[in-house]
Amino acid sequence: MDKEQLNALKELMGDRVILENDSLDAHRFDRWCIKHYRAWQQQTINRPACIVRPIQTKDVQTLMAFAHKQKLSVVPFGLGSGVCGGIEPSDQDILIDMGGMNKICEINSVDLLATFESGVNGLIAEEAVAKHDLTIGHWPQSIAISSVGGWVSTRASGQFSTAYGNIEDIIYAIEVVLPHGELVTLGKAPRAAAGPDLRHLFIGAEGTMGIVTKVTLSLRRQPEKRAFSVFHTPSMQQGFSLQRNIVQADWRPPVMRQYDASEVARLFPDFTLNNNGLLLLVHEGPASRVDAEVEAIAKLANKLGINSIDTTAAEQWLERRNHVPEWQDLFNMGWIADTIEISGTWQQIDVIYDNVIAALKTVPFIINASAHSSHVYRSGINLYFTFACKPENVADMEALYFECWDKAINATADAGGGIAHHHGVGRLRKPYLGRELGEGGVNLLRSIKHAIDPQGLMNPGNLIP
Ligand SMILES: Cc1cc2nc3c(=O)[nH]c(=O)nc-3n(C[C@H](O)[C@H](O)[C@H](O)COP(=O)(O)OP(=O)(O)OC[C@H]3O[C@@H](n4cnc5c(N)ncnc54)[C@H](O)[C@@H]3O)c2cc1C
Repeated sequence: MDKEQLNALKELMGDRVILENDSLDAHRFDRWCIKHYRAWQQQTINRPACIVRPIQTKDVQTLMAFAHKQKLSVVPFGLGSGVCGGIEPSDQDILIDMGGMNKICEINSVDLLATFESGVNGLIAEEAVAKHDLTIGHWPQSIAISSVGGWVSTRASGQFSTAYGNIEDIIYAIEVVLPHGELVTLGKAPRAAAGPDLRHLFIGAEGTMGIVTKVTLSLRRQPEKRAFSVFHTPSMQQGFSLQRNIVQADWRPPVMRQYDASEVARLFPDFTLNNNGLLLLVHEGPASRVDAEVEAIAKLANKLGINSIDTTAAEQWLERRNHVPEWQDLFNMGWIADTIEISGTWQQIDVIYDNVIAALKTVPFIINASAHSSHVYRSGINLYFTFACKPENVADMEALYFECWDKAINATADAGGGIAHHHGVGRLRKPYLGRELGEGGVNLLRSIKHAIDPQGLMNPGNLIP
C-alpha cells in the first residue's frame, strides 16, 4: 500500500482508519502459540499497513470496494483468539478490525432467533439472550475473548455441543460482504431446499471468501434442570465404548468429557484411582428427561462394568473450565506446548489415541502427551491432545513444536481420522489440508476461492494451500 493509496483511504473512511503503533502491534497475530513464541524471542513480526475499524456494514462495503479497485489485500480480525495463525498481515495489507461492529440487533423470543453484528463478544451475546431466559448454547472455552463472526469464520465448537450442536447447527443466517463490496444475506427460513447451502461457503472460510458482518443464531430456552454424572473409566477404550452406547441409545448429555489417566493426574488430582480415566457428564433439559437420562446412563455404565463416583469433579470442571495459562508463562518455564483437536469414527478412535500418543512420545524432550474427548456424535468422537516439550535450549522450541504437530496430524490421518475438529486450519494446518480433502477437494476449494475472490485479496496465505 503506497502513500497515495493510504491518503485516499483516509479521505474515504476518515477516523475509521487507525495508524497508531500500539494498535498496529496488537493486530499482528492471533493466539497461535508459535507467533507468541517468536514475539517472546523478540523476532520481528510484520504489522499491517493500517487498520480499518468499521462500525456498520456500509463501512465494510466501502472498504472492500476500495481495496478491490486498488488491488489491496484485506485481513479480517475478529477478537484475535484464533489458535492456528489465521491472522498474519503483511506490511502491505489492510487489517479490518471487526470489533467495532458490536451491536445486538434483535432478540426474538417467539422464533428463538437473535441477530448480532459480527464483532459482538461471545459472552456479551450469551448474556444478552440470557436476560430473556434464552441461551445460544454455544460455549467455546474462549467465549469471553472471541466474536460471533469469528465463531462462524472458524467453524467453532462449544463445550455443550453434544446436545446443542456446533456453530454450523446454530447459525440461521449470515450477512456477508463479498471481496468486491457486494452484500449478500444467506439463510432465510428454518430450512431450505433451494440449491446448495451457500452459508457454508463462509462457515469456516477463515476470512478468505468475504467479511461476515451480521449473524443470526437459533436460540434455545434455558434448561429447566441441570445434573451431573461422573465415572471412573478403567481404559480409554472402555470409556469410548460407554460414550458410544450413550449417544447411540439417543441420550444427549450436552457435555461428555473423557480424560486419560495422565490428564486426570494433572487436572483432577483429587480424583485419581488406580490409573483410571474420568468421564464427566453434564445433563440439561426438561427435569423428567434429565432424571431419566441420569438413571439410564448409570444403568448402561453398570452393564459395562464402569463405576460412578460422586459428581464433584464435573461441578469443579464447570466452575473452572475457562481458565488457561498464557503462552508466555509456559515459555518462561522452558516449555513449548499446544493442543491438537482431531476426530475419528468409533472404529478408528482407539487406534488414533494409541498411535498419536505413541508418535508424540518419540519427539525429543517431550514431557507431556495426553488427551481427552469433548464432542460426541452418533458415528464417532473428537480427541483433544495436549503436548509439551522442555528442551535444553529454548532455540529448539520451534522445531520441536512443528515436529509434534507433524507426528500427531500424520498419525491421525494414517488411521483414517479427520485432522481438524474445531480450531480450523490457518497457516498451521494448511500444509496438511490435502490429507483431509484429498487433491480433488483442495482443487475444488481453490476453484471456489478463485470464483469468489479472483484477485486473491482476502486473507492471502491463509487456509488454502
Ligand atoms: C483459550 C482459548 C480457548 C479456545 N477454545 C475454543 C473452543 O472451545 N472452541 C473453539 O471452536 N475454538 C476455541 N478457541 C479458538 C478461537 O477462540 C475460535 O477459533 C474463535 O472462533 C475465534 O474467534 P475470534 O473472534 O477471536 O476470531 P479471530 O481469531 O479474530 O479470527 C479467526 C479467523 O477468522 C477470520 N475472521 C474473524 N472474523 C471474521 C469476520 N467477521 N469475517 C470474516 N472472517 C473473519 C480471521 O481472519 C481469522 O482467519 C480457543 C482459543 C483460545 C485462545
